[in-house]
Order: sequence, then C-alpha cells, then structure tokens
Amino acid sequence: MSDRSNEHYFTRAKQSIPGGVNSPVRAYGSVGGTPRFLVGAQGAYVTDTEGREYVDLVASWGPAILGHTHPEVLEAVQQAAARGLSFGASTPGETELAELVRERVSVGDAHPIGKLRMVSTGTEATMTAIRLARGYTGRDLLVKFAGHYHGHSDSLLAEAGSGVATLSMPGSAGITAETAAQTLVLPYNDLDAVRAAFDEHGPRIAAVIVESAAANMGVLAPQRGFNRSLSEITRRNGSLLIVDEVLTGFRVGPAGWWGLEAANVVPDGGGWQPDLITFGKVIGGGLPLAALGGRTEVMDYLAPLGPVYQAGTLSGNPVAVAAGTATLRLATPAVYETLDAVADQLSVAVSDALSAEGVEHSVQRAGSLFSFAFTPTAPLNYDDVRAQQAWRYPPFFHAMLDAGVNLPPSVFEAWFVTAAHDETAVSRILDALPAAAKAAAAA
Ligand code: PMP
Repeated sequence: MSDRSNEHYFTRAKQSIPGGVNSPVRAYGSVGGTPRFLVGAQGAYVTDTEGREYVDLVASWGPAILGHTHPEVLEAVQQAAARGLSFGASTPGETELAELVRERVSVGDAHPIGKLRMVSTGTEATMTAIRLARGYTGRDLLVKFAGHYHGHSDSLLAEAGSGVATLSMPGSAGITAETAAQTLVLPYNDLDAVRAAFDEHGPRIAAVIVESAAANMGVLAPQRGFNRSLSEITRRNGSLLIVDEVLTGFRVGPAGWWGLEAANVVPDGGGWQPDLITFGKVIGGGLPLAALGGRTEVMDYLAPLGPVYQAGTLSGNPVAVAAGTATLRLATPAVYETLDAVADQLSVAVSDALSAEGVEHSVQRAGSLFSFAFTPTAPLNYDDVRAQQAWRYPPFFHAMLDAGVNLPPSVFEAWFVTAAHDETAVSRILDALPAAAKAAAAA
C-alpha cells in the first residue's frame, strides 16, 4: 500500500476521526469500498490522493454550480481573504449579498424575502427558522415529511433523508422523547395527512417545514399544487410555512424551486409564497454560508429587534460572503440553461442504459437535479423510495467510479451537474454507462 493510497488515508483517518469522516455519507457505508480522499477540484473534475481524476457529479453536494474553483470566485475569495479573514462585525458585503438575494428571489410582484439573516450552515438556517416560527406563533409543534432532510438539529432528524436514510436509521440517539414528540412526521405528497394533522393539532402547529422539491431521498418533486396547498393550509390555521431551499435554492433556477413554481415553469405552481425560506450550499459558493429569509414581520422577531435569539461568531463571514456573491453574480440564466441541458442529456442516457439491460427504474427530476430509483413506477413518498431495489446501486456506483466518474455514494442522494460539464466531461460519463448498467442488472 503506497503512502498516497486512498486505503492509507482511510485507515489513518479512522484512528483519529469517527468512521474516518466528518459527515457520515462520505464513509461509503451503503456502497462499500474505500472512500476517495480528494486533494483537488477544478471545473467538472475532482482528483484523489492517488492522482486519479474523476468527472464529478457530487459538486460538493450542490454548491459548485459553476464548476469547482471557478477562477472569478477564487479571485473574489483571495481578495476578501487578503482584506481580513473574519471581523466579528458587520461588513458592507453582507448587505450587498442580502440585497442580491432579495432581488433574485422575487418573481413578478411576489417578493418572499423581506429580510435575510446569514448563518454558516443549512442546519443552522432550518434550526433558526423553526425557533423563529415557534417564537412568532407561540406554538410548539412542527410538521415535517418523511424522507425530507433539513440538517441535523434535534427536531429535524425524525425519519430524515440523506445520511439518515442511507444508514437506514429511524432518527438519531441523543434526542429526547419530549423533543421527538414535538415533530409530527407525515407522508410526503399526502395532503389528506396534512389536513388530518391540522384537524387534530391545528392550534398547536407552529410550522410546516418542507423541502421545496425533495432531494434527500433521491429526487422526488412535489405533486402539482402540493406546496401551494401547504401554504393555504398553514395560512388558514395561523401557522407558518418554512420552505427549505438549502439544496434547491439558486441551483434549479435563479430564484430556486419556489421561483420555478412562481413563474409557472412548474405547471400549476404559482400563486403562493413561503413565510420563511432557508438557503445554503450555492449561496456560499463552496464556503460555509447559509441563510434564512422571509416575511419582514416574522424576520423582525429575531434578536436584536425581537425576542427570538440567534447569533454566530462567523455568521456573514466576509470570505464566504465574497464567494457567495461572486457565485450568484456569475450564475446567469445561461448557466441554468446549461445545467438543464446537461441534466436532460445525462438523465436520458442513464435511463437508456438501464433500459437496455432491462433494469426497472424511475427517472426522478426536479429542475436540473435528478436521480434514479430502482422501482417499476414513479415513487410518491419515502415508503415508495425505500421499497426500491436499492442493492442495484452499489455495483452501478462502483462501475462508474472505476471508469472515473464520481457519483453520490448513496441511492438516496441527488446527482449534481455543473456549468463546467462540457462535452468531454459528459462523454466520459456516457462511455461509462453501459458497463455500469450491466453491473446493476447483474446485482
Ligand atoms: N436542508 C436541506 C434541504 C439539505 O439538503 C441540507 C444538506 N444537504 C440541509 C438542510 C443541511 O445543510 P448543512 O449540511 O449545510 O447543515
């Protein structure tokens, strides 16, 4: 074993870091094998310690929308870093970014972001949004949907997607029964279940939190009008709708999934607004930055104006703000056209390759996000997703990896394309598909 091998680094990491990783899905638990230890990321490619280059379809789990290490983002980061790494005080850049987000997440007359508060992770954004909803409404209960992932705060780990789904965990140890009991978990895309929950507990429900389009149990777009109905039901009952766009925000379109609905790009989508929206990933351009925003009247409940406390030593960090601002400025409509076109091409190609080998599957799409479920019919909710032939994914994943394509190491994750996925990168993926589809068929 050479000193630069992935095995070497994984063995060493496991001595000092639980499971050898700082985020569980990275450990390849559900696909097996040795995780790749990465040392570089440029454009559509990542490079491991052994010097192998892979076409990347993880994109740092979303942020790298322009491709990794875009030169203009890098330049903005270097300039900001040279001015100062962290001030612990307000900076002009934060206001500029807040203004940019308010403007971008507006469609026609609809301006869902009155104000925006910056934090460092998506987990903090959703955690704060929930506290804010509870503080604003004076209610205790939260509704979430099975298979949706909103970060790892206590209230949100019940039947969560992403790593919790990958590891087949129902939730997490270390969460008190009292906390768990304050989260009602409902099946996704089931408005009857939502109405029944409100019939029973309406006056106690502070908020419904929903991924604007689910993408942490694989991709699973909402049924037509689902989000609008959630908005109507919550409004009628005096509770808030928190739309989690940590993953979809600024990725599926300039104004996120809500923007696609508001502009009727998603059929039958428009005519509603969230009370609060959470952002992460793309908004930080690859550095730790996330945010929550929404109706001014609600946002002003945050300290120092209001009684709901929230703070952060590194909140609005100037280097992260520079990366995020540069990324959003560069994410023009042309970038989204490229992402959509690459997603079209790849999702069709993977589907064709699987069909050619007789592998039953459903192509799951939400804008440029896509994934595949090994089911004969399109899943509607987490139970459907869990019923798939998930064992077909590990051999597919490893065949792609052997051919130099880095896919998400779990069937419960979305595939992420970037604007740097040019013809060369795409054709490397296409070339790898027939063997991978064969491996999935043989599983
Ligand atoms: N919400 C959603 C929809 C997410 O996809 C994620 C992360 N994948 C989070 C929240 C949590 O964000 P973070 O990992 O930055 O804490």
